[in-house]
Order: sequence, then structure tokens, then C-alpha cells
Amino acid sequence: MTIRRPLIAGNWKMNGLLADSVALGRDLAARWSTGPRPERDLLLCPPFPLIVPVAATLAESGIAIGAQDCHPNPAGAHTGDVAAPLLADLGCRAVILGHSERRADHGESDALVKAKATAALKAGLTAIICVGETLTEREAGQTLAVILGQLRGSLPEETSPDRVVIAYEPVWAIGTGRVATPAQAQEVHAALRTELAVLLGAPAAAATRILYGGSMKPDNAADLLALPDVDGGLIGGASLKAADFWAIAVAGL
Ligand code: PEP
Repeated sequence: MTIRRPLIAGNWKMNGLLADSVALGRDLAARWSTGPRPERDLLLCPPFPLIVPVAATLAESGIAIGAQDCHPNPAGAHTGDVAAPLLADLGCRAVILGHSERRADHGESDALVKAKATAALKAGLTAIICVGETLTEREAGQTLAVILGQLRGSLPEETSPDRVVIAYEPVWAIGTGRVATPAQAQEVHAALRTELAVLLGAPAAAATRILYGGSMKPDNAADLLALPDVDGGLIGGASLKAADFWAIAVAGL
């Protein structure tokens, strides 16, 4: 049986100023360093300009730093974008790609997410690829068709379980306080893993981490993290408070 080490990732989105972000990083680093440490990987994904100062607060801890997006090209005339090799150079270990807010706000297609994920892998980063259905799609019974279509369209050709993480984030659960039930989450995660087995083979599917994201909080995290196909969480709002993020990091342990 493959043991998948859970990953708890904080998506800070477009939040934070310098001082409070550094304080948040320091608080979490202190919690991690003074232990007991959860047998889980922790990752913080602040906005681009905060990557370097927040990374400095994590330097002596086991908490990794990541980003929320990257461009598919390694360099060039793309004003306002950030390339994956620069993220890696700054110390990032991972990058969130295809978040539903980027798919909605920036019209990101599966093909673009796939190109970005390919660039991330080439730069040595782990790609955290987000998929998720809207409420309308769920109510129309299209959930599995939508998320499996996104998975097939967004996954890079050269995928390996230690470098690609899938995040199931139902759009209706993000920032709404309306969390997926354990049954809803497990159904989708199991379907994602079955599809990964078709695409990558059973061993790779068994080793790939699939995170749940969408209103995960200290009071619901343990139930979700205990599910057989849930290998961690992608946390938005609750990652902005050290006590809440830490409570999720140790939930169920
Ligand atoms: C997210 O945006 O990735 C997310 C899961 O947000 P929240 O936890 O606030 O629902």
C-alpha cells in the first residue's frame, strides 16, 4: 500500500501586507519548530511580492513556500506575469495552477493550465492543479464529467506523483462557508484517482496526492482529512490566521 504524506497548503490569495504576512510566517514557523510536528507537509502560497520576505521567516522551519500562478513561458515579453524559473530561484517548491478564481477572472482554459503545469515541472516546481465544478454543474449532475474533463485537459504529459498534486475545489464551497460533505468529497476524490490510474497507471495514481479545498476549517478538517482518498487540504480563508491554519495542520492527529 502506498503511503501518501498529507500536504496542507495555504492559499493566501490577494491578501496581506508586508508586516502582517511576515508575522504570520513567523508564527507558523515557531509552531512548527517548537513541535510536536505533524507528519504532514506544510506549504504557504502568498502573493508574489511577499514570497521572499515570508520565505525568510520560514528558513529554519520545515514549512515550504510556494506561489499562486506562473506563466507558461520561462521568460520574455509578458508584462505583469511571473515565470516558473524565477519562482524556483526565489525558493518556491510548488505553484498552485488553474484555481477556479483564475479560470473565472482570467479565462484560463485547461490547455493553458496544462502549459503552465508543464513549465512548472520543467522549472523543478511541484504543480498543484485545481479542478472543481460550479453549483449549477453539480445540480445538473455534471460534477464528475466536469472535474474529470478538467483533469484530462490540465495534466502535463510528463507527470510524476512527487511533482504533481491535484486539488479538488468545488467552486460552490470556496470562500462560502459551505463545505463539501465527506461523502461528496470522497466520491470525487475516488473518481479522480480512478481516472489518474487510467491516465498514468495504477502505481502513479496510488501515489498522487489529491487535496480537498473549499471552506476547510478547524472544525471540519479532521473528518475530511480522514477520508481514504483525501491527502490534505488547500486552505484559503483559514490559512490567514496562524491558529486556524495550525489547527487544520494537526487536525485528526
Ligand atoms: C481556495 O481558494 O483555494 C480555498 C479553498 O478557499 P477557502 O478555504 O476560503 O474556501
